[in-house]
Order: sequence, then C-alpha cells, then structure tokens
Amino acid sequence: MKPQDIAALLNEPACAHNKKAKSGCAKPAPGATQGGCCFDGARNALLPIADVAHIVHGPIGCAGSSWDNRGTRSSGPDTYRIGMTTDLTDMDVIMGRGEKRLYQSIKQTIETHKPAAVFVYNTCVPALQGDDIEAVAKHAQEKFGVPVIPVDCAGFYGNKNLGNRVAGDAAYKYIIGTREPDPVAPALEIPGVVRHDVNLVGEWNVGGEFWNVAPLFDELGLRVLCSFSGDSRFAEVQTMHRAQANMVVCSKAMLAVARKLEDDYKIPWFEGSFYGARDTSEAFRGFARLLNDPDLSARVEKLVAREEARVEAALAPLREKLRGKRVLIFTGGYKSWSVVSAMQDLGMIVVATGTEKSTEEDKARIVELMGPEARMISDNDQLALIDVFHETNADILIAGDRYIYPTLKSRIPFLDIDHVRRIGYAGYDGLIELAKNLDQAVHSPVWAQVRSKPAWAKRARPRAVA
Ligand code: SF4
Repeated sequence: MKPQDIAALLNEPACAHNKKAKSGCAKPAPGATQGGCCFDGARNALLPIADVAHIVHGPIGCAGSSWDNRGTRSSGPDTYRIGMTTDLTDMDVIMGRGEKRLYQSIKQTIETHKPAAVFVYNTCVPALQGDDIEAVAKHAQEKFGVPVIPVDCAGFYGNKNLGNRVAGDAAYKYIIGTREPDPVAPALEIPGVVRHDVNLVGEWNVGGEFWNVAPLFDELGLRVLCSFSGDSRFAEVQTMHRAQANMVVCSKAMLAVARKLEDDYKIPWFEGSFYGARDTSEAFRGFARLLNDPDLSARVEKLVAREEARVEAALAPLREKLRGKRVLIFTGGYKSWSVVSAMQDLGMIVVATGTEKSTEEDKARIVELMGPEARMISDNDQLALIDVFHETNADILIAGDRYIYPTLKSRIPFLDIDHVRRIGYAGYDGLIELAKNLDQAVHSPVWAQVRSKPAWAKRARPRAVA
C-alpha cells in the first residue's frame, strides 16, 4: 500500500477527529501496533463473512497466533473458521517464492473448500519482500472464476484501527455494488407493510448477539440486506449499495463505508448501538426517522413499548441485586459509552470508563451519560487499572479478555466484554443476559472464600518451649 493511500485512510472526513482543529489520525509511531496490528484489525473486520476462505499470506506466526480469536458466530457455513496461511518459510523468502506459494494456496483452497470467495491478507514479510498480492489475486480470479479479494494490510502500516479501515476500503473497492439483491420472498411479505432494506455496518455478531435483534427487524418489515460483517455472506456484502438506510454500529471502524455509501448511493446513515434497552430502542427509532415512514414509526413505538415492558419485568429481581453496585469499565471505541448506558439501565453506578480507542465523539457521549465529572481512563496499564478499582471502591471490573488474569489474581469480580467472548449482550435479551452474568460475577460465593484468611493462617501456632 502506498503512503498516500494510508494517509487517505487515516484522514476520514466523517470521523469526529476531523470536525475539530485536528486533521486526521496521527501517523503510526513505533509501538503503535501494541494491542493489534493493521493485519489483525483488517482480518478481524472481514473474518465474520462466513462463506469466505480467509488466507493469511505470511509466516505461520501471523495466522497461527491469532486463529479463532473472535467469538463471532455464523448461522450457516463455517469456512471462515478454518485457519489458512501460506506459511512462508525463510527459504521461501530467500528464493522469492512468496507469490507462487500464494497462487498455489488459492488454488488448493478453491479446490478443497469451494468458498464463495477467497480473501488474501498481506502481512509484514511479503509486503517487505514486495509480493504483488493484487496481481496474484487478479490472475487467480480469472483462472478459477471465483472472486479473490486482496487485502493489503501489512502489520507495520499501522494499528488495528487502521486495519479496520483497510478492510472497509477493500470491501468497498472490490465487493460492494457487484450484485443486485434478490427479490423479497413472497412468504416474507407482511400484508399492508412497506418493506425497507437496511444495512448494519460494523456489527460483528459476537457471541451471536445480532440474533437477539434480527427477529425484531423482521417483525418491523426491515430486511437486513447485510450485517457487515457478522454472520454475513459474500453475496450479501455485494448488495449493500441498495439499502435505504445504514446504521453504523461500531463507530470508528467502518465509518468510511457508510460515508462512501452516502456519497455514491445517497444512503443516509446514523450511529447507534444495541447495548442496553434505551440504545436498542433508539436504534429502531433511528431507522424509522431516516426512512421517513410514519407507519414504521408507529410500529417501532409499539414494539419498543412491548419489549421494554418485557425486559423490565425480567430485570426486576436482578435490578434489586445490582442497584447501586459500582462498576469500572475498561473498554474502547463505541463500547466506552454504549456499555455505560447498559450499566445505567441496570441501576449501577459507573465509576470510570476506559477511552483507549475512543473518538472525541465517543468521549462527548460519555460526558452526556456520566456528566462533566466523568472519569475517563486512557492508560491501558493493568496494575494502574487495579489501583483505580480499589481507589473508586468498585464492585466489578468490565474489560477485555487480556485483563482476566491480573484481575482474578487480585480477587476482583470480572466480566469479559471483549470480542472473544461467546455470550451475546446486544438487544433486549442481551441486556437480560448481561444482568444475569453481572449478578453471578458480583455475588459469586467464591469471593468470600478467596478473600478470607486460609485456615492455617487463622490457627495460632504453639510456641516452641526451650
Ligand atoms: S502482520 Fe506483522 S505485525 Fe502483524 S502479526 Fe504479522 S508480523 Fe506481526
């Protein structure tokens, strides 16, 4: 990838960073890939496309160390979960055999797995060597008649966030707009209801959480053309240009996709979240607003009233147990505020929230929810976080999986909110699940045991008599 292409991706006009004096994101600096390199971000963003073969072009470490590190789920094919790599060795590098190995890998993949498409991810070694993955992909596509998509995302280009943008850029350049949607099946038509086609951009279906809201879209007559990319299929991504409204679910990662769809196809978009009852209701209202359909608005209000009443009844006993409990949240991006909202829905007190990868807009939303005195933590030092936990008298820490062990060793209740989890917390049902898991984590009998003195320390030892 050329430096000017990276600069263009870092300078996203729709990003909140660009609405102030600051222009674009900072250029990658040494150490910027801590917490995920560009390859990691790009592959994470596209991996949930379930019927695609994802080949990592590079040494075994890039693919091997990150295989299946996401809790994203598929309702059908599981080609995406097969770890594929060209496994470049030092001899391949010395002999300049990278492109040949890549071509052979694509051939073998298509013959063995018959995927809907093949994605090829570039990594540091072949990028430094100068492998032309775009040319290999083009040649293989012509030869085998299967779409082969090059994703030029070498780790040293920048951090995980840049990788998300590279992924969106590749999808926009090579996939979106290459096929028309199928007509709506007559069985799915609802008499008297005007159907609308919509997209979710940046929804990953972690722990199957998209399925918590999918039936509600059906009920409202909203056909999700593509949930990009959680539980999606290659053919669905191709049709995204025909939606009438887009919701950007993960605020930073895929903003450019929504912005380009608006520029080129006049598709309006809004940012939202499915974490918490309030935000889920607002997401459906957001679609009704953009689609400008009064009948849909009325049906949304009916659905929201019914679902909120159902959730309220289910949460009542749990709310009693969780009300007033103090929670420290350390997550990044849009979750820094959307999880705050979900906690407040449960009557919990958020003592501080992490803003490691949050935009200025994300921070503004935190202030909106927590007030001007909101404590935001950007330092990802694990021990400092444990200190904040004690200092704020928190009852539970909600963070990503890399904080599990220091937290549990410190005998602190913990809830994993990262992308590797296998439990979905989105939507109304997700909030109920979240409340149950919080209750179990905070009130687990194990805390009393591990915090008390062991029996041998309680017993006074008789002194030895001289
Ligand atoms: S792409 Fe580069 S930085 Fe990323 S895992 Fe591979 S070698 Fe490491």
